[in-house]
Amino acid sequence: MAGHLGKQAIVVGAGMGGLTAALALADHFERILILESDRLPADPLERAGTPQGRHVHALLAGGQRALEDLFPGFERALIAAGAVPIRTGLDMRAERPGFDPFPQRDLGWDNYAMSRALVEHTVRRQVESRASIELRQECRVEALVPSADSASVTGVRCAGPAKRTEILSADLVIDASGRGTLTFDTLRALGRSVPEQTTIGVDLMYASTIFAIPDDAPTDWKGVFTFPAFGRASRGSLMLPLEGRRWICTVGGRHGDKPPGDEAGFMAYANGLRTPTVYNAIRNAKRLGDIARFGFPESVYRHYERLSEFPRGLLPIGDAICRFNPIYGQGMSVAALEARALGELLARLGAEPDPLAGLAPAFFQEVAALIHTPWESAAVPDFVHPDTRGERPSNFEQTLKFGMGLSKLAARDPAVHKLTAEVQNLLKPRSVYQDPALVQRVMAVMAE
Ligand SMILES: Cc1cc2nc3c(=O)[nH]c(=O)nc-3n(C[C@H](O)[C@H](O)[C@H](O)COP(=O)(O)OP(=O)(O)OC[C@H]3O[C@@H](n4cnc5c(N)ncnc54)[C@H](O)[C@@H]3O)c2cc1C
Repeated sequence: MAGHLGKQAIVVGAGMGGLTAALALADHFERILILESDRLPADPLERAGTPQGRHVHALLAGGQRALEDLFPGFERALIAAGAVPIRTGLDMRAERPGFDPFPQRDLGWDNYAMSRALVEHTVRRQVESRASIELRQECRVEALVPSADSASVTGVRCAGPAKRTEILSADLVIDASGRGTLTFDTLRALGRSVPEQTTIGVDLMYASTIFAIPDDAPTDWKGVFTFPAFGRASRGSLMLPLEGRRWICTVGGRHGDKPPGDEAGFMAYANGLRTPTVYNAIRNAKRLGDIARFGFPESVYRHYERLSEFPRGLLPIGDAICRFNPIYGQGMSVAALEARALGELLARLGAEPDPLAGLAPAFFQEVAALIHTPWESAAVPDFVHPDTRGERPSNFEQTLKFGMGLSKLAARDPAVHKLTAEVQNLLKPRSVYQDPALVQRVMAVMAE
């Protein structure tokens, strides 16, 4: 149990960023108050504030372990709630151009597949069991409140269910509202610089629906990831099992190849995927809900680490810092990794005479280091499509070719396959690919 750094911390938003941040703060403040604008369902169900929850949500092993560190027993709780264990490398059929499928082999650990609502619900129940944390629903934060000298944020102005407005004070406010506009508006109101942004315009459109898993479902995979062909083609799919013997099937395309929202259109679109696996699996399966669509114009990375000054008592987290292209399944995991880093940082800073003074710059440096691998891992394949907007990574062609050589080597060599899965799952940084012996082997494959 660490010493308290303040009386009250306020967390705006009870999504994955807010819930995990509250767990990270739990030992460091006397009281943590989470303010959430939605009315939260008692069961793991969709809700208005997180419309992305109607689409497939993969939880990467790096995020899963960060959640286990923040909440010992997380994986057990997920399994008890019906999450489906997926033996990494073995239970997923990954269909990539040139590898249909990529070799299926046991890489040594389990991931879990479930609805986003179930992950959030499992973490929320843990949050609600902590004595120092209070979760207030139907409470919208309208603005952050600055100090008279504009040097810090001292609380929030919020409106409850009866629209009664209230000012609540806090030693630390975490902006986990997803959009991050509260932080931006505050910086502008204080006359401070807002962070530079890097964007990658992917113009993605998702459509998702849920099916009952049929009795004659294939037995050689539990989920399928169908990648598009190279170049202008962009149509792909991720289908994963959910709790309750269901599949969630998400299909999507970029730059105008939009999946329709009606049943016939959805099925025709699925039938146009690069391989027939998904269509064949769902064509006679019973659909259990309607078809939800989601447009995602661009990934956005706000470079808070580049700011030379930042108000005391305020931290954005999760999507409020970086919104990742969802197809790589990184957002929830990065939010959990950031929260874990926040908890570790607070424990370290606890020894300082004024721990909150140096918190924001130290946190932003940690977050930048965390974001490097997922952002770069997404940027290179994103820029394969010629219509992608934004600045290509400087070494784009070389990195792309290296990645193709690495995939070929991974298909042949289980140890390299495991290494690439560890990087994709945010268990290891991309810098492991610079190992000279590995580089030499990849170059040899590229030269073939
Ligand atoms: C289509 C799609 C698919 C995705 N697929 C994946 C995936 O496969 N794997 C993955 O890891 N990630 C995925 N993501 C990303 C993931 O959903 C987010 O990265 C993650 O939820 C980030 O959490 P967050 O807490 O920052 O924001 P959110 O989870 O969006 O939570 C924000 C919360 O703040 C509340 N809120 C907002 N404003 C206020 C306010 N003013 N006052 C009070 N409360 C407020 C909202 O109601 C909400 O509860 C996907 C995203 C999209 C769009």
